[in-house]
Amino acid sequence: MNTVCSINLYEDGTEKLYEKLCERLQELELIFDVNNSESEISKVNAAAGTGNAISVSRDFANVLEIALKVAEETDGAFNPSCGPLVKLWGINTDHAKVPADEELEKILPLCDYRNVIFTPATNSPSGLENKSAGGEVSLSLSGMSLDLGGIVKGYAADELVSILKANNVKRAILDLGGNIYVYGQKKDKSPWKVGVKNPDNPTGEPKLVLECSESSIVTSGVYERFFEQDGKHYHHIIDCKTGRPVENGIASLTIICGSSLWADVLSTTLFVMGEEKIEKMDFERFTPEFEYIIIMNDGEIIRSRF
Ligand code: AMP
Ligand code: MG
Repeated sequence: MNTVCSINLYEDGTEKLYEKLCERLQELELIFDVNNSESEISKVNAAAGTGNAISVSRDFANVLEIALKVAEETDGAFNPSCGPLVKLWGINTDHAKVPADEELEKILPLCDYRNVIFTPATNSPSGLENKSAGGEVSLSLSGMSLDLGGIVKGYAADELVSILKANNVKRAILDLGGNIYVYGQKKDKSPWKVGVKNPDNPTGEPKLVLECSESSIVTSGVYERFFEQDGKHYHHIIDCKTGRPVENGIASLTIICGSSLWADVLSTTLFVMGEEKIEKMDFERFTPEFEYIIIMNDGEIIRSRF
C-alpha cells in the first residue's frame, strides 16, 4: 500500500495472529497494487478499451461497488477512474510536475467514472452465491485506469477488524498509513485518544485530540503527498472536473465512522466537495452514520454535529 502499517493487539497479540493479519494485508496488496502488473487492478487497467471484461475477486468487487456508488451520489467528487490524472501529475514519484493545459484537456475524458463497467456476480442457479467471484469489470476507453488509493486502506482496516472479532481480541489499534482503527475498549475503560495532525506542522503537536469509542478515524490532508513547483504546493487529491489538485480552502478533512472503508472514501470525497456542498448533501441516504472535522488553511476548525 506504499505506506507504513502498524498493528497493536495488546495482551491478545500472539505471533500467529499477527501473521494472519499480515497475510490478509498481503492478499489485498496482490489484488490492489497498481505497481504489480499481475494484480487484479493492473489487469483491469491493461484491458482498458479492448472490450474485454476482467473477472475480479469478491474483495475487488466490494471496494469498487462502494467507490462507484459514492461517485454517482456525489457527481464524481470521488472518482475511482482518476488513474490517468494521478499518473500525469506523478505526485509521490520522482517525476512529479505540473502538466500543461493541453495535456490535462486530453486526459480529462479518460477520467469519467461512467465508463467503468462493473457487472456484479449473480447468484448461481442453485441459489447459492459464488463465493470466489465478485463479478466482471471493464473500462470502455483505451487509456483509462482505476485508482482506488482513496478507499482501499479503509477496506483493509475493516477486513483486519473482522479477523480481530473472529479471534475474540479485546482491544487493538490499527494504523494503516494514517487510517486509524481503535478497536474494543482500553483496559481502564477510558476513551481512546486519537490526535488530528496540524496541517501546518504535521510532525509536531496535534491540532486536536479526539476522544473516541471503537471507530475508525481517517484524514485526507494537503500535507500527506505533495510536491512544490515555483513556490506553489500541489497535493494528491484531484478535482477530476478541472484535473487539478483541489483548492477550496480545506487543509485537512477527518472522518470518524464505524466503518473504515466509509471513513476512507468519505474523507477523500468530502475533501473534494468542499464545505458548501458538504452542508447541502443528504449523506444519510447512502452512507452509514459519520462525523467530520475540517481544518481550513487559515486554521479554522469546522465540525459536524458533536
Ligand atoms: P486519501 O489520502 O484517502 O484522501 O486518498 C488520496 C488518493 O486517492 C490519492 O493519492 C489518489 O490515489 C486518489 N485520488 C485522488 N483524487 C481522487 C478523487 N477525486 N477521487 C478518488 N480518488 C482520488
Ligand atoms: Mg480516503
